[in-house]
Amino acid sequence: MAGYDYDLFVIGAGSGGVRAARLAAATGAKVAVAEEDQVGGTCVVRGCVPKKFMVYASEFSHAFHTAEGFGWTLPKGDAAPQFSWSKFLARKDAEIARLSGIYQTNLNKAGAELIMARARLVDAHTVELVGQGRTVTADKILIAVGGRVWWPKDVPGIEHAISSNEAFHLEGLPKSIVIVGGGYIAVEFAGIFNGLDVDTTLIYRGDNILRGFDEDVRVHLAEEMQKQGIKFVFNQRHQSLEKTEAGIVSHLQDGLDITTDAVMFAVGREPYVEGLGLEAAGVALNARGAIAVDAYSKTNIDNIYAIGDVTDRINLTPVAIREAVAFADTVYRGIPSSFDHDTVATAVFSQPSVGTVGLSEAEARQQYGELDIYLARFRSMKYTFTGDQDRMLMKLIVVTETQKIVGCHIVGPEAGEMIQMAAIAIKMGVTKAQWDQTCAVHPTAAEELVTMRDKQASPGHANAA
Ligand code: NDP
Repeated sequence: MAGYDYDLFVIGAGSGGVRAARLAAATGAKVAVAEEDQVGGTCVVRGCVPKKFMVYASEFSHAFHTAEGFGWTLPKGDAAPQFSWSKFLARKDAEIARLSGIYQTNLNKAGAELIMARARLVDAHTVELVGQGRTVTADKILIAVGGRVWWPKDVPGIEHAISSNEAFHLEGLPKSIVIVGGGYIAVEFAGIFNGLDVDTTLIYRGDNILRGFDEDVRVHLAEEMQKQGIKFVFNQRHQSLEKTEAGIVSHLQDGLDITTDAVMFAVGREPYVEGLGLEAAGVALNARGAIAVDAYSKTNIDNIYAIGDVTDRINLTPVAIREAVAFADTVYRGIPSSFDHDTVATAVFSQPSVGTVGLSEAEARQQYGELDIYLARFRSMKYTFTGDQDRMLMKLIVVTETQKIVGCHIVGPEAGEMIQMAAIAIKMGVTKAQWDQTCAVHPTAAEELVTMRDKQASPGHANAA
């Protein structure tokens, strides 16, 4: 340690920072973690976890409807199922506090010290604990501060809008909402608010949601979300926002005005590098404003590392955790390791949800040329029974020459659960023939994945993304 206060100083107690701190401390290193907010980071405090609770809550309106199709009689009028936002919020906050507590206990058990303060680099080995009037030194520093909401600078009145941060703490549910953006957060919250009976309009600057996803997925999801009652306004940008007696008016580029109780911007997140003292320590950023790192998460400064969203590689919690593990293995266990960012599965908790792993058809075509495409769109037995028109989509992308499956895309209930399993085989390099040797689990929706035998006659949508 050569005279430093700590072997490792971690800035940020989110999923990545906490995992790295625990693993490093377990090897006997003297570790401290600084956190300026609640322990747990974006995922636990204002992201994946509370969002998933909101998805669960909002899915009940559809489930009640489906229940009627199965013969249930739901009470009507005042006796009809009522949702209490305040009850939900109280439960949600209690659960987040419990999870945050577990993160703290785990740090504690591992022997890492938690310092509740904002940390700022003074030089490559010195960290100022802002507000505490002291500095500490460390042999190695790990920056795991994550990202934060990005706001456009050119929309007058944007202060009247909320972001996902505020959506988790609204005093009451609005009657109507405009959601701006077409990415993960926008489509997820559109489903949440719509399911909670809020009149929901999604406004996006492009011509369909989830740019970069497989084109068939995008088209299918947009259709299904519309069936659920979400309104889409595409190819439109905000000129300005105005607060009036009637609500917040979204003035759009084509002269269209939409008045709603609330407006939520979900137009991206950015690495949270401001005020970190990176210049003082000499840490370089990349062209996207994220901390530049090598495959081992090392910055241009030899003793400073960075993981998670602040490096803007793949901004997902499990990725940050794997980067943390690789960091701890490399630096504290003498096992040089780098996380392979290829073929990482992901789920979008829209309604219906999306599970995806590997390449979109367009990416695969660009990379491999000729492909075999297997695609199924169908109503699951649950909905054929009730007469609902909800449809699922499953798509496999196979390289013609090698017969390797390089992409799997699912839209429908529990798509996130299914894609986790598919990802194992695809990451292992499964061929379509091997995949097909797996016998179906019947009756499930997932069985369709292993029973798709007919190639699409012609290329699917030419995905230009
Ligand atoms: P995304 O990057 O996914 O999407 C941003 C959206 O905003 C895009 O549709 C983009 O349009 C649009 N946009 C960007 N700039 C503007 C602008 N100036 N005016 C209007 N629209 C604009 O960001 P999110 O905020 O949705 O999510 C951030 C990240 O968080 C995700 O990338 C993901 O990594 C992570 N996340 C993961 C989740 C999960 O795993 N389930 C859930 C939530 C977040 P365009 O496409 O045209 O660029």
